[in-house]
Amino acid sequence: MPHLAKSLSRTINTKIAQLSDSQITTFNNQTSKIPGIIKLTIGEPDVNTPEHVKQAAIADIEKDDSHYAPEAGKPELLTAISDYLNDSLGVFFDPATEICATVGATEALNVAFMTLLNPGDKILVPTPVWGVYFGIIEMTGAVPVEVDTSQDGFLLTADHLKEVLANEGKGAKAVVLTDPSNPTGRVYSKQDLLELAQVITDNNLFAITDEIYAELIYNDKKHYSLTQIIPERTLLLSGLSKSFAMTGWRIGYIAGPKEIMKSVIKVNSFLITAVTDNVQAAATEALVHGAADYPIARNTYENRLNIIETGLRKCGFSMATPEGAFYIFAKIPTKFGQDDVKFATDLATKAKVALMPGSYFGQGGQGYVRLSYAASTEDLEEAVRRITAYVNDL
Ligand code: PMP
Repeated sequence: MPHLAKSLSRTINTKIAQLSDSQITTFNNQTSKIPGIIKLTIGEPDVNTPEHVKQAAIADIEKDDSHYAPEAGKPELLTAISDYLNDSLGVFFDPATEICATVGATEALNVAFMTLLNPGDKILVPTPVWGVYFGIIEMTGAVPVEVDTSQDGFLLTADHLKEVLANEGKGAKAVVLTDPSNPTGRVYSKQDLLELAQVITDNNLFAITDEIYAELIYNDKKHYSLTQIIPERTLLLSGLSKSFAMTGWRIGYIAGPKEIMKSVIKVNSFLITAVTDNVQAAATEALVHGAADYPIARNTYENRLNIIETGLRKCGFSMATPEGAFYIFAKIPTKFGQDDVKFATDLATKAKVALMPGSYFGQGGQGYVRLSYAASTEDLEEAVRRITAYVNDL
């Protein structure tokens, strides 16, 4: 087994060497070892990819589709993405020049940040947020500026954005929004976005909007996008991981103005050449023939949300109303103190339910826990019983 030469141990890229390990992964691995644990830690759909989508990939392999695809993606996939965005948002992106297929939304984030950010650039990141953003931004050498949204129901307001731009965020180049949000399940209204768009334009910012959970919005609330208001300064990132239970396929995309998409496509091709052929075939099938799959997933998650939200509120947790994605970000009852890592560790050990400490999601997450309800109804009902018993026992 090779060991790195001692004389080379300091040669690793310093930006990479300084990146910290994911606390989420570490906590998840630790709690996985507890026998009988119910894990509500990870945002992974517990259902399988729809059958017609799987069959499309199998058919594609069988017809020997195994050559380099065009770097932005196959025309049929790009057309399917364009049609999907046009149907759902009423915004037209030209499949020939304004869309790029990526290896999941994670690669889309890497490509977008690499394309936009120079070392030293500031980018505003409303928190609590999916922590992977920080690692990706830091790899570019740019500086993430956390904007704590906990005082505004976990939504970035136009006034708060203005205030940050006048202070620690002065000179920022871009802002990233996650809508619906991981970890809070919050969703921006049309009015919220109109107000934010004004400040974004007044300050000549780029907007990067991560809409991977756009299909998972509940209680008849509707999804809006900055691309409907300021398409000229927005990059939309999304993918099929969550809406089609396709996390393992690794398929996402970026859409935006063609002037910037030229560079986006160049970066994408340097990173991956192009997305795997049969994955593109599966994604095309999902987008073209999968309209019936969304409501099924949405109803399933909405029922689960009701079970777990009611259960948590009954035993003393409070939360800003979760409206989308599959997460609840709950305030720990005061009698437990506000050390979320201690609380989540104790709950995992004694009640055998694993929730993610809120502080792992950045500023404003202290004193909260994130619960993912992408789990079976039975597990969620049992989790509520165990949490209730734990809380009442104290
Ligand atoms: N953005 C957000 C907000 C997410 O929560 C996730 C997955 N947890 C991703 C992007 C990454 O999605 P993908 O599986 O498509 O890479």
